[in-house]
Amino acid sequence: MRPVEKWKVGHSTPSGVTILSEYSPHTKANLLIQENIDHFCSYCEVFSPDLEVEHIISQHRKPEKRTSWDNFLLACGRCNGKDNKSNKYVDLSKVFFPHLNNTFYIFVYGQGGYVGVNPNLTPDQKTKAEAMLDLVCIDKYPGNPKYPKTNQYPIFGFNANDKRWALRRTAWEEAQIRLTKYLNQELSANDIAEFAYQRGFFSVWYSVFVNHIDVKKALILRFRGTAQNCFDSNYNPISRNPNHPTDPI
Ligand SMILES: [Zn+2]
Repeated sequence: MRPVEKWKVGHSTPSGVTILSEYSPHTKANLLIQENIDHFCSYCEVFSPDLEVEHIISQHRKPEKRTSWDNFLLACGRCNGKDNKSNKYVDLSKVFFPHLNNTFYIFVYGQGGYVGVNPNLTPDQKTKAEAMLDLVCIDKYPGNPKYPKTNQYPIFGFNANDKRWALRRTAWEEAQIRLTKYLNQELSANDIAEFAYQRGFFSVWYSVFVNHIDVKKALILRFRGTAQNCFDSNYNPISRNPNHPTDPI
């Protein structure tokens, strides 16, 4: 999950606008937050021309946060939908979030683009990473025993219209094809980053090109608003909050 650097209230944007503390209705913030963290879902990372301003803490649970810039990210309709995040309770101290933590480090993206919790986390960190998975359910894929088939969902164990896994798998396959071309010197690092940018799924591309520093650098720079302090000089993930007393991630 790509970590992002959200602009603070009062920040002056490249387009000459100052970020306000409140946007009413919240949809007024849509273009600004896309200028900030780009046109990808903050959770599943899909490219979408139809993103919603997403309330980190549900507007139904905390109406006073409905118009607060600090409570906004971007989400696709599926991540924000009733099967997934929707109105679920969020305690920011118990879940890793992409604007606060290094959410690239908390997950691993494996063959086919499948997402799981990083096995190198401490038990407490795993709990917070799993809480993010439970919130947006980007680990919904056919055959995941976490989602057994039910009468309501007899095909996959979840809403069969939820195709985020399939889009991520396609991105993985596209990245593999381009890895071969990159190794054959038919494509440059910037070519890879540009193609990835058209499709989304930053973490998939990074994972496929994990051994290629030039590509990792190009991806981090190309996807606007990626939190650069989440990566070291070799573009490997590092702690975002190294001075935090209990949770440096
Ligand atoms: Zn999404």
